[in-house]
Amino acid sequence: MSEPAPTRDRLRGLHWGQRGTTGASIPAALGFEGVSQRYGAVQALDGVDLTVNPGELVCLLGPSGCGKTTLLRIAAGIEVPTAGRVLLDGREVSGRTLFLPPERRGIGLMFQDYALFPHLSILENVTFGLRDLPARDATAIAMRALARVGLEKYAADYPHMLSGGEQQRVALARSIAPRPGVLLMDEPFSNLDRRMRDAIREETVAILRETGATTVIVTHDPEEAMRTADRVVLMREGRVVQAGSAEEIYRRPADLFTARFFCDFNEIEGVRRGGRIETPIGHFPAGALPEGGAAVVCVRPQGVRLRPPGMCLPGRLLSRRFLGEVDLVSVAVQGLDRPLQARVRGALPARLGEEVGVDIERDEVLVFPV
Ligand code: ATP
Repeated sequence: MSEPAPTRDRLRGLHWGQRGTTGASIPAALGFEGVSQRYGAVQALDGVDLTVNPGELVCLLGPSGCGKTTLLRIAAGIEVPTAGRVLLDGREVSGRTLFLPPERRGIGLMFQDYALFPHLSILENVTFGLRDLPARDATAIAMRALARVGLEKYAADYPHMLSGGEQQRVALARSIAPRPGVLLMDEPFSNLDRRMRDAIREETVAILRETGATTVIVTHDPEEAMRTADRVVLMREGRVVQAGSAEEIYRRPADLFTARFFCDFNEIEGVRRGGRIETPIGHFPAGALPEGGAAVVCVRPQGVRLRPPGMCLPGRLLSRRFLGEVDLVSVAVQGLDRPLQARVRGALPARLGEEVGVDIERDEVLVFPV
């Protein structure tokens, strides 16, 4: 067994097993009722209520320390919550009177660092969760899972011989091999090289769909959550702030925190006067805000349109940063402390330092009370 050549991962990374060959699970519903967890002075979870439907793929999203991993560990049975209940198909597995240990929950877990056993071969790592089966059956199932992730040829290798991307796939094979009804994944893509991440994520999701297992993926990356999930569950300070489809949560965020999580907005302060929000860049609908109340008007950078000078609101082009498909353009507007950021496709209507017209696309604006 030799050390891997530097290009080995790239060559192997192109190859996955045939789609549709993953063993199917019987998906279970996963429920949390008033789940709280306290570590000394830290309230890691504060009354979480959440139901994940059978076969649903949910992404738990939120900033560092908001309690995502804690919720996953409680679902798996690695931790006992301070209060609340965990239910699998409506049956309590963690509560006031009962605590079912992890191995009896039928839940698969995949950790951020993959947690492969270094002294076991790849095949032995994958058969580890199949110890209840006769050895021949366990080997056959493990080889099938390895084939699906494109690594069956490396069954006799050891984890240290594999790249990070390959180890991720072994961990995936290990977690799906026992056909768990619920699969919990903690930041499964965060250790991957950015270029590999999209391809591996896409194939991983295809495999998860083939298993049909109810899946909860923890991530702190909103784009990843939106690309992956049937439903995104946003958490903050131990609570669920909002749950919904990617589009719902992006288009109609419940509050400013949620909105900021999904977009780098231009935030402009305003006040409600005469039934509308007045700002230096114009008037906006006030919604339920009381008269005289302060608001923040959030404008998506793609909602800032640049026009020839003399049209719309006057601005001055300050800078332009090439991002590939679009440019990020900075525009100074009178009355604003900070320049507006605009995402612009194609040619600019003026040169840097010159005047432009600024038009705000109303569909790209959200207003929140402050
Ligand atoms: P990250 O994205 O950084 O992994 P997270 O959202 O998964 O964060 P958790 O790991 O669930 O957050 O942690 C929630 C809070 O609980 C944090 O403040 C953390 O420091 C604290 N915490 C977690 N586990 C323990 C523990 N065993 N002992 C003490 N505090 C803990």
